[in-house]
Amino acid sequence: VSAKEVTAHFQSRIQALNPKLNAFTSLNQDALKDAEAIDARIAKGENVGALAGVPFGIKEMLCTKGLTTTAGSKMLSNFVPPYDATVVARLKQAGVVVMGKLNQDEFAMGSSNETSFHGNVKNPWDLERVPGGSSGGSAAAQSARLVAGTIGTDTGGSIRQPASFCGIVGVKPTYGRVSRYGIIAFASSLDQAGPMVSSVQDAALTMEAICGHDPMDSTTSQKAVPQWSKNISTNIKGMKIGVIKEYMKGGLDADVQKTFDDSLETLKKMGAEIVEVSVSMTEFAVPIYYLVATSEASSNLARYDGVRFGYRSEFKNLSSIDLEDFYGKTRGEGFGNEVKRRIMLGTYCLSSGYYDAFYNKAGQVRRLLTNQYLAAFKQCDAIVSPVTTSPAFKIGELVNDPLTMYLNDIFTTSTNLAGLPGMSVPFGMSKAGLPIGIQLTASHFEEQKMLNVAAALESVS
Ligand code: GLN
Repeated sequence: VSAKEVTAHFQSRIQALNPKLNAFTSLNQDALKDAEAIDARIAKGENVGALAGVPFGIKEMLCTKGLTTTAGSKMLSNFVPPYDATVVARLKQAGVVVMGKLNQDEFAMGSSNETSFHGNVKNPWDLERVPGGSSGGSAAAQSARLVAGTIGTDTGGSIRQPASFCGIVGVKPTYGRVSRYGIIAFASSLDQAGPMVSSVQDAALTMEAICGHDPMDSTTSQKAVPQWSKNISTNIKGMKIGVIKEYMKGGLDADVQKTFDDSLETLKKMGAEIVEVSVSMTEFAVPIYYLVATSEASSNLARYDGVRFGYRSEFKNLSSIDLEDFYGKTRGEGFGNEVKRRIMLGTYCLSSGYYDAFYNKAGQVRRLLTNQYLAAFKQCDAIVSPVTTSPAFKIGELVNDPLTMYLNDIFTTSTNLAGLPGMSVPFGMSKAGLPIGIQLTASHFEEQKMLNVAAALESVS
């Protein structure tokens, strides 16, 4: 088939299903033309790339030249970037056809996609349930096969939790693997983009396209990008797989517990050795995460002042306006409640007098957490855990209960804090027919080990 035919096929699926799901927020009107151009290059015998003609959806968090990049916020509702994020540019280089932009929680703050300016997204498995967040649009679009691949971002679980809730594969690579250039900043020391796709193989191929050093992001690693896709092996015989002792305190939904127990049994049957490891600082992962993430967010979001770009409140006479009033009204109208809550929390944590007690302290505990993980990875090749405590919850269930919503991130935030790679692979199903994922983590830059264990689980699920 031609790239044009594939693109047209997915366009018709988007047309038929997106009104029910609200996953896409805007579409690339030139997608067919872009596909034709790829077909023309293939006809000329050019080697277009590993993802030639593959239609992808991109989270609203990533800048796309000529396409809206709203970050799910009124604040950026009119923002059309003049350039592509490095991730997007590299996907295009690999031959991807960008189909459009995908819904998300506002500035990627949330776990249910209910904080979006574009309205909530529905879970394709049960339209009364959330798809997870913040990359809920990516997860729903991929799960309903509106595209062949999607890109999400993960600051504290936003790729892995929605992937688990929607039954797809989601990978957050090691911090520094993927350029953050052109990705709207939420918490810069935690943010990382990654694939949300249908298989471990697709994830590996996508990562090969987007990963690697970028002179535009000084935090990217110089390390060469391995050919993960060629080296995926489901033979995990003799591998040591860690279980975090402190995670085994119960309190999981029965279906999640069963899925997790089944995954351990399966890994054992396939010849892996299960070892218990201790990462006691994970107990503090959620509080440290919400300190670090809100602090960095309050600083990053200071740029939305209504002057240079983005939303500006209406003022009759700009020359006589009070500057405080200008910022106050613009930001008051442009940001939603969850974003405001986080800016206030973060500003408080960073204020003189509290900085040492909160932000600095969080940084110290974060270092201890990382050290404990590094010690644990001397005893095992990868760590397996649940992704969340329950399958997808109902729309509206947690929306007025931010603290319970934050607890959704109990198993996912520690990998971001430690900079480790992490992923979710579908493995179980609740009695009510909702998908449940299993989380895998490995040491820094050891994505291959994590992908192999995921592939092993995938091969029998
Ligand atoms: N749910 C988490 C939060 O609300 C994670 C978000 C993310 O990874 N972008 O901050």
